[in-house]
Amino acid sequence: MSCIFCRIAAGEIPSPRVLETPDLIAIRDIAPQAPAHLLVIPRRHVESLASLEDASLGGKLLEGVREAARLAGLAEYRLIANTGASAGQTVFHLHFHVLGGRPLGALG
Ligand code: 5GP
Ligand code: ZN
Repeated sequence: MSCIFCRIAAGEIPSPRVLETPDLIAIRDIAPQAPAHLLVIPRRHVESLASLEDASLGGKLLEGVREAARLAGLAEYRLIANTGASAGQTVFHLHFHVLGGRPLGALG
């Protein structure tokens, strides 16, 4: 298994979880861009939001975002899903960035 997020989700690479459910995990980003920087990751390998065809999983991921943010104490946060290399995606296993804990500027 070469996908880093598949390996983390399988527990092959230890990574403390903010939240885990049968469908997803939420972990802290290894290179945080804000005081709180979570990643919400489906256990199932889906390359990106563009290839997510399961609307039910999409709903669960959004619910996971809400719950992970709540557990991290974030009342306000930014949600990002880089979709494709030109958008900044570097890990090709779908994930949502949840950023907060400081005022965030306009999107660049
Ligand atoms: P992308 O650029 O694909 O939207 O975001 C990938 C994110 O995954 C980056 O913010 C990067 O810091 C994070 N990341 C990459 N490898 C690891 C890892 O092994 N553990 C954790 N916790 N985050 C990772
Ligand atoms: Zn994967």
